Amino acid sequence: MCGRAMKNYIGALDQGTTSTRFIVFDAAGHEVARHQLEHRQLLSQPGWVEHDPIEIISRVDEVIAGALRAGNLSGNDLAAIGITNQRETTVAWNPRDGRPWHNAIVWQDIRTDEAVAGLESRHAFIRERTGLPAASYFSAIKLQWILGRVENLRERAERGEALFGTIDSWIIWNLTGGVNGGLHVTDVTNASRTQLMNLHTLAWDDELLSIFDVPRRMLPRICPSSDSSAFGTTRSDGPLGAEVPIAGNLGDQHAAVVGQACFAPGAVKNTYGTGNFILLNTGERMVPSSSGLITTLGYALEKGHPVFALEGSVAVTGSAVQWLRDQLGVIKTADEIEPLAASVPDSAGLFFVPAFSGLFAPYWRADARGIIAGLTRFHTKAHLAQATLEAICFQTRAVLDAMVRDSGVEIAVLKVDGGATANNLLMQRQADILGVPVVRPVVSETTALGAAYAAGLAVGLWTDVASVQRQWKADRQWEPSWSADRRDAVYDGWRKAVDRAVGWVDHAD
Ligand code: ADP
Repeated sequence: MCGRAMKNYIGALDQGTTSTRFIVFDAAGHEVARHQLEHRQLLSQPGWVEHDPIEIISRVDEVIAGALRAGNLSGNDLAAIGITNQRETTVAWNPRDGRPWHNAIVWQDIRTDEAVAGLESRHAFIRERTGLPAASYFSAIKLQWILGRVENLRERAERGEALFGTIDSWIIWNLTGGVNGGLHVTDVTNASRTQLMNLHTLAWDDELLSIFDVPRRMLPRICPSSDSSAFGTTRSDGPLGAEVPIAGNLGDQHAAVVGQACFAPGAVKNTYGTGNFILLNTGERMVPSSSGLITTLGYALEKGHPVFALEGSVAVTGSAVQWLRDQLGVIKTADEIEPLAASVPDSAGLFFVPAFSGLFAPYWRADARGIIAGLTRFHTKAHLAQATLEAICFQTRAVLDAMVRDSGVEIAVLKVDGGATANNLLMQRQADILGVPVVRPVVSETTALGAAYAAGLAVGLWTDVASVQRQWKADRQWEPSWSADRRDAVYDGWRKAVDRAVGWVDHAD
C-alpha cells in the first residue's frame, strides 16, 4: 500500500485514429493496467474521414475508468497523467456549451486537396515556415474548411464562441472542466503539425494565420510537452474521480520517440503498423529536406530546448500483408505470413512494389501503381510472402537513406515498435537490407510509455531523461547477416522494380 500512497503510478491516455486506450505504468515503466475501446470512422463521402468528438470524450472517460477498475486503482494513486494522440485531426467547438461546431476532420481526410492546390503560390513559403509541405494532411486547411462551412463561425471565433484544437486540446479542455473553466492548451509537437506554427519561433504565425484565414483568438496556448502545471488538473467529478495533474502531452509519433528513448542525435525509431512512421532525432538542428522528408519537432521536454527530427512515412506496409490476407487469400491471419515466407530461403528474384495509391516518401510519385516484377514459373505464394516482407524493408531503407543524405548523420541502430514487429523474419530482413542492427524493446507500447515519461518527468517520478534512457530495455536485437554485395544487388533489384512502377498512370486519380 505504501507505494500507492506515494503515488508511484502514471496514467497514459493514447487517443489514436481507430481506438483510445488508457495504460497505467509503474515507476519502473512496467504496465500495470489498461483498457481500450474503438470509436466509429464516419465516412460519408469518398475521401472524407470524420470522428465524433463527443464519442471520443465518452471513450476517454470509459477507458480511464475501465483501466483503473482493472488495476484496482483510483485516480489518487496516479502522480500525473500524460496524453498522446492522433496528430493533425481538427476540432472546433463552442466553449459556452461544449458542443463541437462540426465533426472532427481526421488527418487522412483529403476533402481539402483542391484548396491546397489553390495555395500553390504560397507552398514554398509554407514549407520554409512550418517544415511541412502544404497538404490536406495538416490541420490549417481543415480548419479553414470548417470555418467556411459553418455559418458565421469566423465571427463567432472572433467573439470567443469557437475554439480550435487538435485532439489533445479537446481532451484536456474537457478533463479540466469543460464549460466550467476548461484549459485551452496544446503542446508544441501537436502545434507543429497544424501548419499554423512557425517552426523557427515555436509560436503561432500571423502570416500563416492570414494565409488560412484563421482568427488568432480561437487558438490554444502552446506549451512544452512536459510541464507540471501548464495543462492543468483533472476535475474530481471527471473519470479519474480526483484532481490529477496532466503533465505530459505529445503527438503519437513524437511520444514514440520519447518512449523509445531516442534522445541522442542520430537515434531513430520506426513504427510498423498499417503504414510505417520513421523519425530521426537531429538534435538542436532543424534539417531541411531535399529528399521529400518532413522537418518536424521531435519533442520539447524542457521549455526552450526543442529537439528536432526528420520524419518519413510509408503508406503501405502492414496493409500489404492485409492485402495478401483479404484480397488474395494467401494467408488467413497476418501472423501466417512469417511461416509461409520462412518456408523458402529468399524471394528468388521476385519483387513486389505495393504502390497501391502511389509512392510516398522519399519517392513522391502519385503516378505509381503496384507491380509484382521478376515472376517465373518457379515462384510460389511463399516467394510472394517473402517479397511482401522485403517490400516493407526496402521502403524503410529508402526513407532512412534519404535521412542520412539530408542530415549527414550515420545511423547506428534502428529501434522498432508496432504490431508487425512481432514478425521475427521481417525484423531479420530489415537488418539484412539496411546493413544496420534492428532492436525491439521489452515494452511494445512505446507511444503510451512516451506520454507517461513526459508526465512523470514533469512531476519528478523520473528525475531526468538519463533515468528514462536507463529504463529502456532491449527485448531482442537482429544483426545484418547479408554481405554488402548481396545487400547492394538485392536493393538494385528493388530500384529497378520501382522504376517500372512509377509513371504507370498519367496522373494521380
Ligand atoms: P495500426 O496501429 O496502424 O492499426 P498495428 O501496430 O496494430 O497497426 O499493426 C497492425 C498491422 O501490422 C496490420 O497492417 C497487419 O497486417 C500488420 N501485422 C500484424 N501482425 C503481423 C505479422 N506477424 N507480420 C507482418 N505484419 C503484421
